[in-house]
Amino acid sequence: MGIMKFGKTVVKNLFHKPATKGYPFIKNEFFERTRGHIVMRIEDCIFCGTCARRCPASAIQVDRDAKKWSIERFRCVQCGNCVENCPKKCLGMDRHYAEVKQSKEAETFYGATLEQTASDHVEVPHA
Ligand code: SF4
Ligand code: SF4
Repeated sequence: MGIMKFGKTVVKNLFHKPATKGYPFIKNEFFERTRGHIVMRIEDCIFCGTCARRCPASAIQVDRDAKKWSIERFRCVQCGNCVENCPKKCLGMDRHYAEVKQSKEAETFYGATLEQTASDHVEVPHA
């Protein structure tokens, strides 16, 4: 009886599609609301530090004077708190997971300093 049952399962599995996907050739589609990884639009950041204060994992550091914003991706728990509380809406959640890395250093973004902003400004000569 047991052999019959076993044989039935073997035959069924022989003609059945595989239960797993053939990654990396077949990739999974992410759901629309997947919380993949944090993305940043540094041009809009005002370095207020709200995201860092609201982060439960202390994954974000903000240095207002140096106009520096950084994130330790290995600490991030994808809670979305920083995204929800950013007053400038310059943070978002990408649906894809962060790239695989071998080291745990923070990823840093720099905003334009006052000097850079001044030098980027082009004076239009009077006619
Ligand atoms: S909360 Fe938004 S604007 Fe404020 S430092 Fe963070 S990313 Fe920048
Ligand atoms: S998603 Fe959550 S854990 Fe990750 S950086 Fe934002 S507040 Fe911190």
